[in-house]
Amino acid sequence: MAEPDIVSALRQVLPEDCVLWAAEDRRPYECDALTVFRELPRVVALPRTEEDVRAVLTTCARLRVPVVARGSGTGLSGGATPHPCGVLLSLSRMSRILGIDPLARTARLQPGVRNLAVSEAVAVHGLYYAPDPSSQVACSIGGNVAENSGGVHCLKYGLTVHNVLAVRGYSMSGERLELGGAAPEAPGLDLLSLAIGSEGLLMVVTEVTVRLIPRPTCAQLVMASFATCTGRPMRSPR
Ligand SMILES: Cc1cc2nc3c(=O)[nH]c(=O)nc-3n(C[C@H](O)[C@H](O)[C@H](O)COP(=O)(O)OP(=O)(O)OC[C@H]3O[C@@H](n4cnc5c(N)ncnc54)[C@H](O)[C@@H]3O)c2cc1C
Repeated sequence: MAEPDIVSALRQVLPEDCVLWAAEDRRPYECDALTVFRELPRVVALPRTEEDVRAVLTTCARLRVPVVARGSGTGLSGGATPHPCGVLLSLSRMSRILGIDPLARTARLQPGVRNLAVSEAVAVHGLYYAPDPSSQVACSIGGNVAENSGGVHCLKYGLTVHNVLAVRGYSMSGERLELGGAAPEAPGLDLLSLAIGSEGLLMVVTEVTVRLIPRPTCAQLVMASFATCTGRPMRSPR
């Protein structure tokens, strides 16, 4: 399909400022943190609502145009590398915290919320969100779900898959999906675990419900020394 046709089809379903087609506007989206691979997407779509996301996906499915989802573009596996003939669907404008329930210790988030912003928002309740990739100042919850991300806290509290209760979104053909639920164990097949870590191939996530945990009352630094298998301390490198 020719570029102007995709642009005009998307402009029929999205506001004008949500569709980028000039080369200089598309350039910032040509790669994620795996910068060795670069592709200029045909078009960039910047939805603001779930309805916008659905409209992009159904339009692209009808036109048989591939879609690649993108959060903050910090991925190291090239998952957000654009398809040269496709639409790059950036979720960065959907960055609102939809609700915090301190009693249930849960939060409902749009996919573009930054990981660290969750812990900052719930700190007032003495809570935090455990999965802490080193990129947490920038990476998005939607990207974390797609990559099943984690950091040091995951040694104790598990990865994203252990800290997400539910996701909502759309299949690539625009069909609405709701996986998991507010309760810790949802009945039926565990499709939530299938979606988490699927690198955006199974669905585009538009809402995430995360589990929050109490902040520790104290944090203490522990130093460990390396030892050889003989039990003798190793010499430090020069
Ligand atoms: C300096 C640095 C440190 C890092 N440290 C860690 C670490 O400690 N632990 C770790 O796990 N990772 C780490 N990463 C990798 C990266 O930050 C994570 O994978 C992060 O989860 C990616 O989030 P993102 O929003 O940037 O996603 P993106 O890079 O934009 O996308 C990543 C994947 O998610 C998909 N995706 C994004 N949003 C959605 C959505 N809403 N719905 C469906 N699919 C979507 C994309 O299609 C792509 O496949 C690091 C990266 C950098 C650059």
